[in-house]
Amino acid sequence: MSVVGIDLGTYSCYIGVARAGGIETIANEYSDRCTPSYVSLGEKSRVLGVAAKQQAVTNFRNTVCGFKRILGRKYDDPFVQSELQKSFKPNHVGKDSNGNVVFQLNYLGEKQDFTASQLTSMLLNKLKFTAETSLKTKVVDVVVSVPVFFTDVERRALLDACQLAGLNCLRILNDTSAVALSYGIYKTDLPIETEKPRNVVFVDLGHSSLQVSACAFNKGKLKVLATSYDAQLGGKDLDELIVDYMTEEFKKSYKVDPKSNAKAYIRLTQECEKLKKLMSANVQPIPLNIECFMDDKDVHGSMDRAKFEELAAPLFERLENTLQAVLDNAKLKSSDIASVEIIGGASRVPAFKSIVQKVFGKEPSTTLNADEAVARGCALMCA
Ligand code: ATP
Ligand code: MG
Repeated sequence: MSVVGIDLGTYSCYIGVARAGGIETIANEYSDRCTPSYVSLGEKSRVLGVAAKQQAVTNFRNTVCGFKRILGRKYDDPFVQSELQKSFKPNHVGKDSNGNVVFQLNYLGEKQDFTASQLTSMLLNKLKFTAETSLKTKVVDVVVSVPVFFTDVERRALLDACQLAGLNCLRILNDTSAVALSYGIYKTDLPIETEKPRNVVFVDLGHSSLQVSACAFNKGKLKVLATSYDAQLGGKDLDELIVDYMTEEFKKSYKVDPKSNAKAYIRLTQECEKLKKLMSANVQPIPLNIECFMDDKDVHGSMDRAKFEELAAPLFERLENTLQAVLDNAKLKSSDIASVEIIGGASRVPAFKSIVQKVFGKEPSTTLNADEAVARGCALMCA
């Protein structure tokens, strides 16, 4: 038996495990340590992770992602309503007799309702299998992380999902605490307990949210001083800006509306995400080409980093305010902070780094593994 730590992301999941040589992250059947948070149901079977994401276009009605966002929430919750309206959802979504959000999907030849807890349990079950295959032992006990802003009800929904997946959740850890743990464990130069602590800020820009924490470290001691977050600011919101821009361009140039067709919309979103990533590494305009997009038309567009930053200005302002809030909540000045560690996939956006630098007056540090730090922290918790 082995205990593993799971970072259950909106976009993708990572599994960490404590081994004799240190903390490792586990690769899946594609030799990839990242497992996309996708579930795809079919006539005869269900697939998860990489294989499910590959069906996002071909089996769009029965492929679901992003369900972590609504875990434990009711259909009439304004947050759920805004989520459903904000981004185009290819799935049929409704509510059950208890008011829970349900995805109406075709599975094994019949229409069935699935709650976010059920979908999460399928994903967790896949991660359990991945861990068991890699470790060649049974895995039952886990530590799972959730966003710092998850309520008790949302945490309980996660526990339900673990139970359904045959997992025993020893502890639910906040993403922010998991990151702080993975930072603290390998630092050999932390001040001793009687000295002034070292204050470190952690900023996690994921796919769907921004989480910030200010922590005080002494040798063998970690105190979370304050946290702040924006639950509706992440990589997917940046993708949506690009999608909206391209939608308007294509309406004008090609007389097609990507938002009128689920398949087209999903393909456009995938291409815009790729474009976003390329813009992180290049300043010149990046082309976007999709063949046979709609009405048999090939479409072309492009964007450069300057245009992207102009479109994202309102989001970047929210980012700045959330960063400032952690200092205010902790009653600290930027000069009290020894270092700022950035993690999360979207922390690779250059403007993000500039804003972090502006607020804290120092260059952000990327010593932590941006993708794996949370899973590693969860694994440390079980060690
Ligand atoms: P959350 O923590 O919000 O639940 P997550 O942990 O699943 O989500 P991450 O894996 O941290 O999310 O980040 C995924 C996001 O990072 C995606 O939006 C992805 O497009 C974005 N991303 C990854 N690489 C880059 C890059 N090079 N440039 C810009 N964005 C990137
Ligand atoms: Mg995350």
